[in-house]
Amino acid sequence: MNNSIEIPLDLPDVQVLAVDKTAKGDWLIRIESTLEGTTCRQCGCQVSQFHGFDQALRLRHLPLFEVPVFVELRPKRYRCEFCKNQPTTTQKLSWHENRSPNTKPYERWLLRMLINSTVTDVAKKLAVRDGVVMGVLNRWLAKAVNWDRFEQLAVLCVDEIALKRGHRDYVVLVTTPRSGGVEVLAVLADRQKQTVADFFASIPSRLKSTVQRVCSDMYKGFVGAAKAQLPAAKIVIDRFHVAKAYRDGADTVRKQEVKRLKGALSKAAYAEIKGAMWPFRKSPKHLKASERALLARLFIHSPKLKQAYVLREELTQIFEQAYTKSGAKCAIRAWCKRVRKSEIAAFDAFLGTVETWLDEITNYFLERLNSGFVEGFNNRVKVLKRRCYGIFDIDQIFQRLTLDTQGFQLFGSD
Ligand SMILES: [Zn+2]
Repeated sequence: MNNSIEIPLDLPDVQVLAVDKTAKGDWLIRIESTLEGTTCRQCGCQVSQFHGFDQALRLRHLPLFEVPVFVELRPKRYRCEFCKNQPTTTQKLSWHENRSPNTKPYERWLLRMLINSTVTDVAKKLAVRDGVVMGVLNRWLAKAVNWDRFEQLAVLCVDEIALKRGHRDYVVLVTTPRSGGVEVLAVLADRQKQTVADFFASIPSRLKSTVQRVCSDMYKGFVGAAKAQLPAAKIVIDRFHVAKAYRDGADTVRKQEVKRLKGALSKAAYAEIKGAMWPFRKSPKHLKASERALLARLFIHSPKLKQAYVLREELTQIFEQAYTKSGAKCAIRAWCKRVRKSEIAAFDAFLGTVETWLDEITNYFLERLNSGFVEGFNNRVKVLKRRCYGIFDIDQIFQRLTLDTQGFQLFGSD
């Protein structure tokens, strides 16, 4: 009974000499180049005087039915007749990068495995060392953006990332929205104004002039750097960052009030209002009936907390509406007035924020129509930020995020 198949090796310019199994049970395919000649490494001339074979190279190739595959090749060397010292040059093959222990098809495959995964995970799955995976990453992914690929930038986004929970060291992620996704432009070592300004200054001038908006959070270093280096661009504080600030204020009131009630109420009465954190964080339209009832009970005990909840939702509503920039300024100022009257102190820090940043905050309304897009983009950036935890090398962060965002496009199997 015939139970075997014959399949092409699919590496160009080689012929198969023999196929064996190693002692370990891996496939070992011995091959030979069918190309004649090479270009002299010294003078660049085509040379064809065969000098001999190099030592055998054993390279990892794509597995067959989960069995590891190695190809073994003795590269050909050629001698130059044109150069005085007659140097020899090793012939290069299109499917192998100098000094790599793998074939290129294997490395592209490995990179596809690494998209949205981790170095350790891929190394484990492919039974190679972490260093092998890192080597592939370093051979194929640059450590800085290639500006040639851009015709314009339009929007730049600057976000800070803590590489570890509770870490005080931040790195800065610079991204731009691109064809329905996001592209990483840089990972900066710290969030100093000078560091960010230096990066903005490094953008080629033909692209600098195309930047219309810089999205940032409310951090003077980023905004100062953008104003100095990209004076024509509008600074936009994204509503996501604004929302975090005022929602934190409302959450502070919740914590204080729940703590107060724990002391003031009987055990039975307190049990009735327990578990309010998640319902409190939701908007009214997302509340289940039971959650709405829970909040209603809680608000009877704490009118102050109800006030904080209503104020928070009112401000969210302002961002939901199609205000003009000046209309939004009026609405936000009116909201601030109501907060001052309310005697809730937890929003005080946010009121200061509004005073400092109202112009940049309301620039959001200039692009209100794009909010669906912006939200999608923000979610992508959030995912990228999470992907950086535990990687402390900014070059590697840049490479990994580039792989996550463009890997299928760059290393697709097509
Ligand atoms: Zn030469």
